[in-house]
Amino acid sequence: MTDNRASAKRGEKVDHGGSYTGAHVAGPGLDTSHGVILYVENVTVSFDGFRALDALTFYLDAGELRCLIGPNGAGKTTLMDVITGKTRPDTGTVFFGNNLDLTQMSEYEIALAGIGRKFQRPTIFHGHTVFENLELAMRTRKTVWTTLRAKLSGEQQDSISATAETIGLLEHLDSRAGLLSHGQKQWLELGMLLMQAPQLLLVDEPVAGMTLQETERTAELLVSLAGTHTVLVVEHDMEFVRSLGHKVTVLHEGAVLAEGNMNDVQKDRRVVEVYLGE
Ligand code: ADP
Ligand code: MG
Repeated sequence: MTDNRASAKRGEKVDHGGSYTGAHVAGPGLDTSHGVILYVENVTVSFDGFRALDALTFYLDAGELRCLIGPNGAGKTTLMDVITGKTRPDTGTVFFGNNLDLTQMSEYEIALAGIGRKFQRPTIFHGHTVFENLELAMRTRKTVWTTLRAKLSGEQQDSISATAETIGLLEHLDSRAGLLSHGQKQWLELGMLLMQAPQLLLVDEPVAGMTLQETERTAELLVSLAGTHTVLVVEHDMEFVRSLGHKVTVLHEGAVLAEGNMNDVQKDRRVVEVYLGE
């Protein structure tokens, strides 16, 4: 479906009280003028008759940080698969901004349009330095750096340094990636994703296996990305989710069970029953 008027929400003007800052997170070709960067509406995905997503409706505002929680099998990974084009919905619509119909785009086109996904296992190059890994990630972004010149421009060097600083690895630019701690490897992977300048970042269980200190640092990192990026995080570590201090969506049986801040969600009886326990 390509009719933009099909969605009531996409057609409506959202009042952000004049403080709306989403425009700068939109890349070329992406229209987030209504303040919403992702529209998932009435999406159903069935596997052999089982509904992994069941008429799911879910929105993300441009520039927000959102946590997606819920029991195993709730459909969290399937939702990310639908957004990235890996899985196609049986019914429903998925739009990136007002105008990009993700169900009509290939996985590659979706990545180019500005949706980046970080998987749990880092896919960094262990034999190369932090700098080289970031450089490689930048060079794959052909739409911006069209020529693969032997020498990096000052601007490109700056871009690598800025990202290294964001992920806390500025002091480790010359370290071999294979020698980094588990947490640092995860941050490098995130940095490689950032080098592609995505507008929407999907992050699956970022703190699994991290030390407490690394977990805290990751929370700071993700919070710092919000505003200039939209970030959707799936995580089971409730202390971590709480420390992010942003809106939480609870998924259950392929639909939204509850949405709100962590305190509200934790008090919700249905959420306690199906997920959090007493
Ligand atoms: P979560 O990430 O919340 O744990 P998933 O999205 O991975 O949940 O899975 C939702 C449901 O869909 C689960 O019951 C899972 O077994 C099922 N499922 C996911 N992917 C497939 C697939 N490719 N084939 C069959 N069933 C699947
Ligand atoms: Mg999952």
